[in-house]
Amino acid sequence: MYSQIFQLHADVYAALSNPKRLEIVHLLRDQEMSVSQMVEMLGLPQANLSQHLMVLREFHLVTTRKKGTNIYYKLSHKNIVKSSDLIREMLIGQNRGNENLTEELRLKMKDMVPLVRDPVCGMRLSPKTAGRALKQKGKTYYFCAEGCENKFVNKHK
Ligand SMILES: [Zn+2]
Repeated sequence: MYSQIFQLHADVYAALSNPKRLEIVHLLRDQEMSVSQMVEMLGLPQANLSQHLMVLREFHLVTTRKKGTNIYYKLSHKNIVKSSDLIREMLIGQNRGNENLTEELRLKMKDMVPLVRDPVCGMRLSPKTAGRALKQKGKTYYFCAEGCENKFVNKHK
């Protein structure tokens, strides 16, 4: 019985053991999203995204809803993102003041401050939950994921 539960638990970690899939989980934290929205926000080719979504679906971490020609994805349980936040909190604690981290990572590791908005898609984020952070001309911007950050960078070159 217990070993079965540990196996199921391990399967969930296996499904999440990919940076892009973790990014998808963070993207879906407060809302459902269509595949095309996620392609935009993640900056990921659709074929690639579909593969990741298939894994998440196979392990019942996301559920889908069909509306017209669009398929919307959402997290199957709020604890998926909660557990991810806990791991991130641990990493923030462990890495505070670590000089070997890149500037980008150190920005991400900063303590939580009041909510900010992704300047591209308008999603509400906190530095703790944002997928990406970028420092430009002394100001820090936060983004839901790589796609939005790239759009912002291209627009402000
Ligand atoms: Zn965004």
